[in-house]
Amino acid sequence: MNRSITPVADWLLGPAGPQRWRVAQSLLALGAYAVLALVLAWQWRLDLISTRAALPLALAALGCGLGFVAVMRSGLNLVLHRRFGIEPSLTLAQSVAGLFGAVWVYLVTGPTRGAALGLMVLVVVFAMFRLGPREALGLAAAALLLLGAASRWLTLTDPFHFPADVEALNLAYTTVVLAGVALLAMRVTQLREQHQQQRTELQQALSRISELATRDELTGLPNRRAILDQLATETARQARKKLPLAIALIDLDHFKRINDAHGHAGGDQVLRGFAHRVESELRGGDVMARWGGEEFLLMLPDTSVEAAQQCLQRLRDRLRASPFDEVAPGLQLTFSAGVTGCLGQGDIDSAIERADQAMYRAKEAGRDRTEAS
Ligand code: GH3
Ligand code: MG
Ligand code: MG
Repeated sequence: MNRSITPVADWLLGPAGPQRWRVAQSLLALGAYAVLALVLAWQWRLDLISTRAALPLALAALGCGLGFVAVMRSGLNLVLHRRFGIEPSLTLAQSVAGLFGAVWVYLVTGPTRGAALGLMVLVVVFAMFRLGPREALGLAAAALLLLGAASRWLTLTDPFHFPADVEALNLAYTTVVLAGVALLAMRVTQLREQHQQQRTELQQALSRISELATRDELTGLPNRRAILDQLATETARQARKKLPLAIALIDLDHFKRINDAHGHAGGDQVLRGFAHRVESELRGGDVMARWGGEEFLLMLPDTSVEAAQQCLQRLRDRLRASPFDEVAPGLQLTFSAGVTGCLGQGDIDSAIERADQAMYRAKEAGRDRTEAS
């Protein structure tokens, strides 16, 4: 918004957000009431309406419009919403006020009363796009009842100016228009719901896609892409705070033998069990990812290389203490690991390379151990 009008808009409409939108809408309604008052004044100048009939209506319309603006601008609508669960836009109350206004216009404007039917339809259309179909239909029915009662009263009190046939025709036309509007509103509601459902489905699909793109399907661990992203974020944070960050590459020992002895499905089960055992041993903030095949990458923020070696020893102890009985009774699994400190975002690739070399040294030195670099 233009900077020079922002303070005025803030003063008039209040802070940005849905409430500002409601205040703006109530101001729009006030504008419509003001136009109605002007039209009444014009009609009064033409001697088509008496002061006694026009003035109370004009004042009531303006008072009602101002009242809704005051309620919205003061936030009373939000209080009503919290206390009584009333819809904060007060659509129903505003529509009922509008309907009474339109019927009042019908009662006092004599020969030009046909225009009041248009006003009535306008109020119902506005309401239908905000309310549910049932409330909207109720409102349309209430409009017809009110109009019917007003017509009847006019016919009974002044049959010369308000012939019964003309009044019946007015009512019939309004019924047809309102019925059409109701059908249209139902269709709009249907489309709105469809649209909402499509959006929900799209969001679900998006989160599923991002899940698939960042998680390893077999173990549920973050995949290589995800851990590289996390490493980039984490190393930047660690560098700012001047804290160490350790990484470890883990390769399961003689995994081919496990596959050979227990089948590929057994191997898969061991991979899942390994991920599960390690995850339950890590502290919050530590992340283990599947780097590929039977290799894993461990990211340990706020951790020195020595502390990382101790952490890996803890994992080793945990594995020893819980054999993979679910695959074969007493099945033991060991791993070889290479640990190094990562010195910042620019060091990620070299740190992974160092960890890889250290891991190979651990393999060469006889497996089931950790080497640091
Ligand atoms: P080393 O101690 O030298 O690492 O021996 P190793 O047998 O683990 O080494 P190697 O890298 O030669 O073999 C890895 C095996 O891991 C081969 C491959 O079939 C198996 N493997 C890789 N990914 C999966 C998987 O997703 N599921 C199963 N079941 N096996 C896998
Ligand atoms: Mg390997
Ligand atoms: Mg291996």
